[in-house]
Amino acid sequence: TAGHTVDTTVVGSIEYAVEVLHTPLIVVLGHDKCGAVHAAAQTLATGEQPPGFIRAVTDRVIPSIVAMTATPEALDEIDEALLRTEHVKHTAEMLHGYSAAIAAAVAEGRCAIIGLEYDLEDGAAHLIKVIGDIGEE
Ligand SMILES: [Zn+2]
Repeated sequence: TAGHTVDTTVVGSIEYAVEVLHTPLIVVLGHDKCGAVHAAAQTLATGEQPPGFIRAVTDRVIPSIVAMTATPEALDEIDEALLRTEHVKHTAEMLHGYSAAIAAAVAEGRCAIIGLEYDLEDGAAHLIKVIGDIGEE
């Protein structure tokens, strides 16, 4: 989904992957120059909502701002890179917190959740969040 946003259908799809298909790893993959993060930052800075159902995406990115370690002095100074990183971590934590099935799978070592940031320039993905056992980090 845009901005790796999560709703009940997404969580249901992931629960199916974990419980029925025995998927061992859930990957939340953020990336630089993310339009969803940019749109959310713009909404926070200007108060103007994006058109149509794009708002449904930004509405699911904006809560990640509360998890940001450094509170911006003004909403027009939101660090998009920081918001992107926090949104990856927040999404991983949401999946673990919302879904009892996913949390149980993680607790039993059947599945783990990781958050990665993908760099469009160098093509590398950087590990920024781990929930559960992934072996050697
Ligand atoms: Zn994106």
